[in-house]
Amino acid sequence: MHELFTTGNIILKTLESHGYKGYFVGGCVRDHHMGRTINDVDITTDALPEDIERIFEHTIDVGKEHGTIIVLVEDTPFEVTTFRTESEYSDFRRPDQVIFTRDLYSDLERRDFTMNAMAMNDDFTIIDPYDGMDAISHRMIATVGLASERFNEDALRILRAARFSSQLQFEVSEETRRAMAEHAENLRHVAVERSVTELTKLYLGMDPKRGKVLVVDTRLNKYLPFFDRVDDASFLRTDVRSLEDELALQIHLSPELAQSLSALKLSNAVKSYIGNIIRLLDMVDSASIRELAYGFDTGILANAISMIQANGWLETGDRRAHLQSALNMKPALPIADASEIDLDGHALMTLFNARGGRWIRTVLTAVEQEILYGRLENDRYKIIEWVKAHVEFEAGDI
Ligand code: ATP
Ligand code: MG
Repeated sequence: MHELFTTGNIILKTLESHGYKGYFVGGCVRDHHMGRTINDVDITTDALPEDIERIFEHTIDVGKEHGTIIVLVEDTPFEVTTFRTESEYSDFRRPDQVIFTRDLYSDLERRDFTMNAMAMNDDFTIIDPYDGMDAISHRMIATVGLASERFNEDALRILRAARFSSQLQFEVSEETRRAMAEHAENLRHVAVERSVTELTKLYLGMDPKRGKVLVVDTRLNKYLPFFDRVDDASFLRTDVRSLEDELALQIHLSPELAQSLSALKLSNAVKSYIGNIIRLLDMVDSASIRELAYGFDTGILANAISMIQANGWLETGDRRAHLQSALNMKPALPIADASEIDLDGHALMTLFNARGGRWIRTVLTAVEQEILYGRLENDRYKIIEWVKAHVEFEAGDI
């Protein structure tokens, strides 16, 4: 039994000792049944959030109004959520109101797919009222209840179906697939952050190609920001293992897409990664090996190499070899970046008894190039000598 279930069992037993019921639920039960790696274990209970906080010593309120409290056992966090049913949906996404219930079956009924609507109790028997185990054995994604209704309630589920098809390499049942296409338009109402989470998982799944084909077949891409601007052929042309790489390649293919990127509300780190990949692909044919080695991080160079390998059409002549040489050269560069230059702006100002200004950058950039190409040693005194010999100050500079 996975360690997380052993630790989580402490929570189930504690709930029971206080007269409540507790079960493992959702993705962890599915993954356990399939023999997949377990990353996190969720627990569902008839105890109310206040009860959970009272019973357990270490808790964090992460969404009490939705019934979710994090319980820490031996420093491991578990999401413990009160059994819920959901009322009317009016905006295709958030339920109008959360209703707690005492009944496990109603809690399972509100879950998206039959494979995700199973619970497991403290002796590890699986409670499976919607035939989730049968769906798993047929490698099939099907909604709990009528697909059309379930997607009409919450459009995010449509995208989740595509994400699971890639993640688990499952088919989608006929009825569920038809309803995906029928309600695709409602994806417009889903918060972009939620869509991005599901898309990220789709690309990290076992079979992103399968997920993408399903997305195109059901026309989900027509209702997703950024992707609504990418034609199907370009979308299907790429073979990538992350959302970032997809976005970078699509912008590389059609630079005007860059202006649609902000609609996805990505983090600065992700945007910077995408920017670097695009810049690298733009430069690779004209830049020297040394420039590429100095200008890009190891991760960017390595990922660009894998991208070219997976997408033969990106290879023109010897791009991949060129990037590999840059990657190999990195450890041998005299400096990894400008901060390693053995003289900074302040030292320059003191040395020349001058005020700061644009001249500092000009001088440091020149010094950087000299060092990078091995014409000048990265040594404070050598650099000072070089600056004295090569830089002429004009009256206006000082
Ligand atoms: P993963 O392994 O990627 O975490 P998961 O199945 O655990 O997959 P989560 O997004 O973590 O997916 O959701 C946990 C559980 O909550 C699901 O298994 C499902 O039972 C339920 N669930 C999540 N999102 C929805 C939704 N939009 N509608 C109905 N049920 C949902
Ligand atoms: Mg999960």
